[in-house]
Amino acid sequence: MKVLQKGFNYSQDGPGNRLVYHLQGCNFRCKWCSNPESMKADYEKCRIYSVDEIVNEAERSKMMFFGGGGVTFTGGEPTLQFEELLQTLKKLKEADIHTAIETNGSHPRLLELSEYVDFFIMDIKQPNDEIHKKYTEHSNKTTLKNLELLTKSRKQLLVRIPLINNVNTDADEFIRLFSSLDMSNVNVEILPYHEYGKCKWVEEYEIKDGFVSEEKLKEFTDKLKAVVNLIKT
Ligand code: SF4
Repeated sequence: MKVLQKGFNYSQDGPGNRLVYHLQGCNFRCKWCSNPESMKADYEKCRIYSVDEIVNEAERSKMMFFGGGGVTFTGGEPTLQFEELLQTLKKLKEADIHTAIETNGSHPRLLELSEYVDFFIMDIKQPNDEIHKKYTEHSNKTTLKNLELLTKSRKQLLVRIPLINNVNTDADEFIRLFSSLDMSNVNVEILPYHEYGKCKWVEEYEIKDGFVSEEKLKEFTDKLKAVVNLIKT
């Protein structure tokens, strides 16, 4: 697998202490992406690991997985390396290692991964497809279909919303979406806009006014609380 970077973090991308692999390549081009170098399929700084290398590394790290930790695959978009990701997840489960992925939800075979993923994180950026295409250069249709299927089939799902002023702060769009689904096994986390990755953009950074005011954040969270289980970031 092409890995842009890897390292341990605690409780950010799944429970406990986790070995997190950022896989190279993404099919979205979110205009606020904090890892723009992860978008292209090939990048001179990424390293290739075989499935067995990752599984062996995870097995050697077992003592580090305290607090219910394990291995997380994020990106870029980890599902672009679908077959290797599927094989790796299967082998990690065989080795009794806790697994997590964070995905933009756009892979048509996403559900095939689900049984090998203990902690599933899906980003929902914008329910309105026209606005989604404008800011990510990709339709959200498959993502929303996968969200529906995952809500029906999983006992755990974390939906993350990166909240960006003038892009997706219309809470009613999310309320319409969530109200149409069974969200009883789903937690929702709001990640307010930041600019940690802005300096890495080579092309023009097009988000000019992305920070969300305290008032707008409160209004958004108050509205969502009425229909979903919101967790604190
Ligand atoms: S889906 Fe994630 S990695 Fe891909 S462009 Fe958007 S923010 Fe960046």
